[in-house]
Amino acid sequence: MIPQTFEYTAPATLQEALGLLEGGERKVLAGGMSLIPAMKLRLAQPDEVVDLGRIPGLKGIAESGGRVRIGAMATHHEIEISAAIRGQCPLLAEAAGRIGDVQVRNMGTIGGSVAHADPAADYPAALVALEAQIRMISAGGERTVEASEFFLDAFTTALEPGELVREVEIAPQPAGEGYRYEKAAHPASGFAVVGVAVRVRREGGRIVMARIGVTGLASRAFRALAAERLLEAGANAKEAAKLVGEGEDANSDLYASAEYRHHLAQVHAARAIQTALSRAS
Ligand code: FAD
Repeated sequence: MIPQTFEYTAPATLQEALGLLEGGERKVLAGGMSLIPAMKLRLAQPDEVVDLGRIPGLKGIAESGGRVRIGAMATHHEIEISAAIRGQCPLLAEAAGRIGDVQVRNMGTIGGSVAHADPAADYPAALVALEAQIRMISAGGERTVEASEFFLDAFTTALEPGELVREVEIAPQPAGEGYRYEKAAHPASGFAVVGVAVRVRREGGRIVMARIGVTGLASRAFRALAAERLLEAGANAKEAAKLVGEGEDANSDLYASAEYRHHLAQVHAARAIQTALSRAS
């Protein structure tokens, strides 16, 4: 449980950090909630750890250009209590509040969580349902990808070597939109055995927009497109929920088999859709 010896650097600017990441076996440190345990288990053995904690440009939550911009170093707790996020994209605040425990929420960051891409992490379900964008930066410049194209596989993202997550951008949820994040939490860690994030918009009693993001079930978070279409075509919550996870190769471990995960996905999707509908005006 002792990490390999490593150098520690804490750059004061983003440019300095990006310069350091251009070569060598370096890892960036955000909240350390996933990286430090991985280093202790020697699953990660970086020669140098670059701490992002002193870079002012990566912190903060702001509204600009009609978007909510969340700095990579915003902690889960800051996201959970942010007035801007609660007001403009409450689904994300709800998911943040369900992560781990108080200590994890105080230390862990959104940038670290999305970069780590644990298949049981909570944010990815909300981010794909919110059609969020992930802005990345390297010494060579910036680029942005849709959340649904960022999460590629278990612990695998669209990040290239030398790139950092700079911020997460989300368009505000329109007023009157219903939403819900439901999860079956692992009893030890709190990670999502399965988590389902739902957004719905109603007009004249009809569902005109449905977005469903799923985490925990498969190797990466995904949108349940067939279930979304069925809801928009007039199906009820239970009927639509039956399609959540259809065709997905489900994870299986000592705690939950693939079959049980599929069952959990349908149960939690039906609950999330029902609550989202009851919140939609
Ligand atoms: P770190 O651990 O510092 O880094 C994680 C990885 O991301 C490293 O590879 C690092 O190099 C890289 N990285 C960090 N920041 C950036 C960046 N800006 N750009 C590029 N790469 C970056 N998560 C959940 O979703 N739900 C849970 O219920 C949950 N329960 C937990 C319970 C426990 C006991 C613990 C220890 C963790 C739990 N987590 C859970 C994980 C937690 O949310 C972590 O905060 C998160 O996975 C990693 O964020 P971090 O800021 O700590 O990143």
